[in-house]
Amino acid sequence: MAISPSPASSNKPPLLSAADALSHLLKNPVPVEAHESVPTQDALGRVLAEDIVSTVDVPPLDNTSMDGYAVATQDISKPGVTLKVDQRIPAGSVGEPLKPKTIARIFTGAPIPPGADAIVMQEDCVPQTQSDLVQINTIPNAGQWIRRRGEDLSVGKVALSAGTVLRPQHLGVAASAGYAQLPVKRRVRVAAFFTGDELSLPGEPLKPGGIYNSNRDTLLGLIRSMGCIGTDYGIVPDRFEATRQALRTASEDHDLIITSGGVSVGEEDHIKPAVNAEGRLDLWQIGMKPGKPLAFGAVRKQNQTNSEVWFLGLPGNPVSSFVTFILFVRPFILKLQGRSDFTPPSFLVRADFDWLKPDRRNEFLRVKMNQDGGLDLFPNQSSGVLTSAAWGDGLIDCPAGQGFKKGDMVRYIPFSGLLY
Ligand code: AMP
Ligand code: MG
Repeated sequence: MAISPSPASSNKPPLLSAADALSHLLKNPVPVEAHESVPTQDALGRVLAEDIVSTVDVPPLDNTSMDGYAVATQDISKPGVTLKVDQRIPAGSVGEPLKPKTIARIFTGAPIPPGADAIVMQEDCVPQTQSDLVQINTIPNAGQWIRRRGEDLSVGKVALSAGTVLRPQHLGVAASAGYAQLPVKRRVRVAAFFTGDELSLPGEPLKPGGIYNSNRDTLLGLIRSMGCIGTDYGIVPDRFEATRQALRTASEDHDLIITSGGVSVGEEDHIKPAVNAEGRLDLWQIGMKPGKPLAFGAVRKQNQTNSEVWFLGLPGNPVSSFVTFILFVRPFILKLQGRSDFTPPSFLVRADFDWLKPDRRNEFLRVKMNQDGGLDLFPNQSSGVLTSAAWGDGLIDCPAGQGFKKGDMVRYIPFSGLLY
């Protein structure tokens, strides 16, 4: 149920929508082209650079999916037939052709011997005591319990396509196709620094009026969980020259610079003038909460003409930088990685609370799914309260000016869908 925006806020200037900001951002980056070869075991989370084709048939031979007996169906016209066991074929060995009117004891994964056309599972058979005879209490159908050669992969068939983000099951497919090494795109390299005279590093005493730098660990964690190389350039004081110098250093060997803080337009906010001095910058006011200011631009690389590194300046408030990373930096990095799945997975879930005073901005509420499959709200939604994101397991994407009531379906973005 939609609830209209409060009229009191209507005299504020229009803001860029989060969707428009994202589509503008995604026009820019060009995927990183360079490839490298890495051991399959080390390729988790990497992006496959080329199609790989299977070097083998998987499975390599027709084989049994049951422990039992390999038979020729023509020898068994009625239940209760007794036949001689002439050979034993465990997995990892190859049997002999089946002689007429004989059967083979066989175990899961072992190849079907020539002449056999079905497996009878051992539960349907009664071995005769002190003899090599077995009574078969069923009439088998040709082909039963046989896994066909190549039914999973066949030689020359594409096993994994270029652009696949390699999850554990993809590494398994690559291994079954015979690949010890895989061609992958080189990792995207992201530099990060954190502005603010008030910041201290954990492990050091807090300065008077200070606060620990939490964005370093949140943002570098997000960067690294996307399979990027993340370089920490530390805390940068709120001074123009120091910010310029940090940009120059961070531009070396990176594809993207991310910063937190200093993107408002107060006299202590130096990101805008410093990036403009070292490159170019747009400062956007986005109609979202948390996270309103976002800076996007590029910084010239030192000693390289016509070469730039992308720049994204996030707000300093810890929840704002977390949410703006998810909504803007993540898709930007996905594009650099050559991926196309920019929209975070989301689905409609029941809200188990009222949200009756919607903001004029698009809100992203920190919520957690309860045992009844509904969503609970973290009580403090302030952009400085990072425990809301640590407690939560996702966000509700709440459109500008639209409230909802307990029981309404809302769009939920689970954090788990953001991994790799
Ligand atoms: P700013 O965007 O620089 O105006 O900062 C907004 C708020 O976020 C201020 O209260 C800062 O103290 C806080 N803040 C900025 N950077 C960080 C950081 N790295 N870790 C924790 N809080 C921060
Ligand atoms: Mg600041």
